[in-house]
Amino acid sequence: MPVSDFEPVIGLEVHAQLLTKTKIFCGCSTAFGAPPNSQVCPTCLGLPGALPALNRAAVEMAVRAGKAFGCRIATRSIWARKNYFYPDLPKGYQISQYELPICAGGAVPVPGLGKIGLERIHLEEDAGKNVHAEHGSLVDLNRSGVPLIEIVGKPELRSAEAASEYLKALRLALIYLGVNDGNLEEGSFRCDANVSVRPRGTAKFGTRVELKNINSFRFVRQAIEYEIERQVEAIEKGEKIRQETRLFDHAAGVTRAMRSKEEANDYRYFPEPDLPPLTVSQDLIDGVRVPKLPHEVLDELTHAGVSPADARTLTDNVDLLRIYRDSSVPGSRAAQAVVNEVARVLKESAVHASFSPGSIAEVFALQDAGTISSTVAKEVLGESLRTGKAARQIVQEKGLAQVSDSGALEAVVDAVLARNPGEVEKYKGGKKNLLGFFVGQAMKDLKGKGNPGALNALFKQKLGD
Ligand SMILES: [Zn+2]
Repeated sequence: MPVSDFEPVIGLEVHAQLLTKTKIFCGCSTAFGAPPNSQVCPTCLGLPGALPALNRAAVEMAVRAGKAFGCRIATRSIWARKNYFYPDLPKGYQISQYELPICAGGAVPVPGLGKIGLERIHLEEDAGKNVHAEHGSLVDLNRSGVPLIEIVGKPELRSAEAASEYLKALRLALIYLGVNDGNLEEGSFRCDANVSVRPRGTAKFGTRVELKNINSFRFVRQAIEYEIERQVEAIEKGEKIRQETRLFDHAAGVTRAMRSKEEANDYRYFPEPDLPPLTVSQDLIDGVRVPKLPHEVLDELTHAGVSPADARTLTDNVDLLRIYRDSSVPGSRAAQAVVNEVARVLKESAVHASFSPGSIAEVFALQDAGTISSTVAKEVLGESLRTGKAARQIVQEKGLAQVSDSGALEAVVDAVLARNPGEVEKYKGGKKNLLGFFVGQAMKDLKGKGNPGALNALFKQKLGD
């Protein structure tokens, strides 16, 4: 059977670091990039006798994600110890949630795919990090105890492309919710993929393989595509798919067997004796505010008259969206300015710290008053973004204002007519489209700063129209 006769079944598990200031069970900082092992204490080092104390902010963020995705929020959930040995886990267990997670069910809206169901969202602590250096491996425990939510998706995805779209939508939603920074490179948003294949039209799932170590959207697609082909080929050859964990080697573009997949009961989960069950009051749940999600913002923008393409660009880029919103001139004009001019400046460098989005409205006002042309308006906005200067100041300093003063314009108009007697004759003889030529000549004399409307009117008047 060719690959097309098989249906891939994909479910993603995402670990997202919560944006709390301190760790989930102690007061250590969660800031990224500090010197190794400088943000640790007896609790997150797992020293004997140290007791965990729960960070309320982590619970609130998990509830916010749960509410946003329509999960059932458990008013009582329990902490469990997930036992395994790894050098970056000095306690020998990770505090997680197993039988009773804080959120169950729900779904993530994905553009073009509808809603992708969730099994659960649970809270847990992160492990430390092994740093593989030249002379051996080192352990950095700064990350140990950083709060995570694990978002377990249902196996409802049917292609590598769909998996990548789901991840992008989930990441953006978490950023909008303010619970995660979406930084794949720093590992604060990590994804494992469960992949299996089955003959099309059958209901029974094939044996699934877990893919780890995927840290970009491109790698997600590549790793899953490779794995689908590998599994189909193996089945074709009459081999059995082994349930195992495989690492994606992005340099080689292949997945490699890491270990045979452990079953949940290999972890010997048991209730965490140092923490009471987590009770979440209805007051807490009601008090957690859920901001608008990306698909809601998209609707809002298109309703305000923004084109679908511009709305998508703004929704996908929170920096652009913020500038659009702060410009306080909602609608397609500001959206176009942000999507074009602001994005162009952002691509080259950064927007100046003292840039005020109010400048956008100021540029529009100058243009509407005829002080500057539309071409100059773009230039002024670009300059304002790069230097942080106000639009009016730029126009003044660079002498960009259009010449609308009738005396000055009249002198130029007279000069143009005087040096083109032939064209004047033809115009008077009926070749009215020469008006554009005259205005063009005057614009040249004025170095592009003439007010075209005023020039048009003056020429007509002088030529007796
Ligand atoms: Zn600590």
